[in-house]
Amino acid sequence: MHKVTLKRSGLNVSRIGFGGLPIQRIDEEKAIAVIKHSLDLGINLIDTANGYTVSEGYIGKAIADYPRERLILATKTRARDYKTAMEHIKLSLERFNTGYIDIYMLHNVSDLPVLDQVLEKDGAFSALEEAKKAGLIRHIGVSSHGHQTALAAAKMDCFETMMYPYNFVAHEPGEEVLAACNVNNIDFFAMKPMGGGRLDNANLAFRFLLNIPGVVPFVGIEKPSEIEEIAEIENSLTSLTKKDQNEIERIVDEIGDRFCRRCRYCLPCPEDIIIPLLNNLVTFLRHDSAEQCFGQGIVAKTVDMARGCTECGECEERCPYDLPIIEMNKENVALYDKAKAEYERGL
Ligand code: SF4
Ligand code: SF4
Repeated sequence: MHKVTLKRSGLNVSRIGFGGLPIQRIDEEKAIAVIKHSLDLGINLIDTANGYTVSEGYIGKAIADYPRERLILATKTRARDYKTAMEHIKLSLERFNTGYIDIYMLHNVSDLPVLDQVLEKDGAFSALEEAKKAGLIRHIGVSSHGHQTALAAAKMDCFETMMYPYNFVAHEPGEEVLAACNVNNIDFFAMKPMGGGRLDNANLAFRFLLNIPGVVPFVGIEKPSEIEEIAEIENSLTSLTKKDQNEIERIVDEIGDRFCRRCRYCLPCPEDIIIPLLNNLVTFLRHDSAEQCFGQGIVAKTVDMARGCTECGECEERCPYDLPIIEMNKENVALYDKAKAEYERGL
């Protein structure tokens, strides 16, 4: 795994970062094993979030035998106020069992009012600033799914790193945010390199991003085979050929006008349907257990809520990508019912 020196923070990081969200779904032993395997493959950049339940704790245990100075630990808080953010920083340090965190981010700063809120006098940012002065964190970053919010944050001087969705399906907003970060000398981390689970072709997805200067992709890892495949792509990286470009175009056409960026602008729905979650159904059906998909959990609940869509159209008016949400709701419900019937028939 090659390394790159980030321009603003000066951190020397692996070309690909380990994303710590999916390890919540596996047991501690497997999580520790997959983190260690990733480190042994040359990854030194690990990202998680205070809100990802057991993730920080698993990472803390996995890194215990590795020299701390060789690791770049990144995590984030969803807190919006000073007090909660400070509590989260202390908790992250405890869970990682470390004296400092390399990058601490404000997590999912969803829209401009939230950006204003975290930057207020007693907002979460002030806790990060204080922790940085005290040496508890080294760099301050921000993550967002909101295009305008990320652009606004990228123009500010207070953030050193930006985490934003970027992949070859939803590439225009990522390109714009990356360009704004480059102008302002902010390090750019790409989340959702596999389109949030919509893309199957890891080779194309990672070669697309790794060929763009200044982009460090983070990938959520659950199995050793996943990180082995991605590390191999990075180790033998080649430029995209005309054939690759054609294949990218074919995949983008196939996904067509149904690609949800999960920006949440369509919410709230008067029927409380969690539209972005419903639009991620394919990923749940591919990666989650039958119990998680067809049991009494959030997936089944969301699909049931979607059956009650009144077709009021409020969501479609708000979606900046003009997605045909009402039609997609019906398709997702039908997809779920088919998958459930097949599972019950033992197929
Ligand atoms: S449906 Fe549209 S507005 Fe809602 S999360 Fe998806 S892309 Fe964003
Ligand atoms: S059209 Fe359906 S999903 Fe969209 S806001 Fe109305 S009830 Fe909710």
